[in-house]
Amino acid sequence: MGRLQKILIPFLGLVLAFWFYSARDTFKPEMLRGKRVIVTGASTGIGEQMAYHLARMGSHVLLTARTEAKLQNVVRRCLQLGAASARFVSGTMEDTAFAQHVVREAQTSLGGLDMLILNHVGASYFGFFDGDVEHVRKLLEINFLSYVAMATSALPMLKESEGSIVVVSSMAGKVGFPFTVPYSATKFALDGFFSSLRQEFTIQSINVSITLCILGFIDTERAVRAAADVLQERPAPRDECALEILKGAALRRRELYYRYSSTRLPLLLRD
Ligand code: NAP
Repeated sequence: MGRLQKILIPFLGLVLAFWFYSARDTFKPEMLRGKRVIVTGASTGIGEQMAYHLARMGSHVLLTARTEAKLQNVVRRCLQLGAASARFVSGTMEDTAFAQHVVREAQTSLGGLDMLILNHVGASYFGFFDGDVEHVRKLLEINFLSYVAMATSALPMLKESEGSIVVVSSMAGKVGFPFTVPYSATKFALDGFFSSLRQEFTIQSINVSITLCILGFIDTERAVRAAADVLQERPAPRDECALEILKGAALRRRELYYRYSSTRLPLLLRD
């Protein structure tokens, strides 16, 4: 009996803790109604799907990527789906000045900002590191420095709205995998910068949440083209992934794992 109690009581404690933690708060689409949101990398893939979910929830969306023709179509669809407003700014995130310009556009056209979703990703290769240092520098500019520049420029508006920063990262930003050396470096850098910044926000009582999203294999065209022959697992659907990111952001989670089974569980085992 004594041994049973020793096992049963901690087990019950764990079950209660899990129930309390998971029942803490639940997502409601109304949380994002009327919110002013920037989505980068919104011309295709996960970013495009986030734009559509936000539109259905009645948010104001400001979208960005390089390809104007694609952005025009995404904006048109967002308006059909019920966005409170939808507009785009096209340009490349290789240029820090452009990244800052997008944030200024939110100030001018939306009068402020509630959520900054940093999602774009520059093209890289899938293979052994080829020694091209210039490629690493360029990828750091697109995948990392532009994220830093946008978050920094947006901070005054986000402080005012007590808003959120969402950083889309990858398992390759938590674990060193072969064949993605430059990409992985940029994603690790995001974790270092934004996880440290979150700590500073806490110390300074700055009420701006930072959600780091750790994604596994998602069925976007780019990812499937690059990795379908190498990865054994089936890619997860991009529209579901996009919705999970928005839920995590609205609930102001520190980190979000999608899919949980292929990201969080392997990391827990590793730790
Ligand atoms: P994607 O389909 O390739 O879309 C990338 C987006 O970034 C596009 O809108 C692209 O538009 C834009 N972009 C590319 N280069 C740019 C540049 N120089 N300046 C501005 N915008 C640029 O990517 P995704 O698969 O949806 O991935 C979205 C995010 O999820 C990324 O951060 C990625 O690392 C992360 N992720 C994805 C997977 C996956 O399996 N799909 C896994 C882990 C993490 P334009 O070409 O029009 O500029």
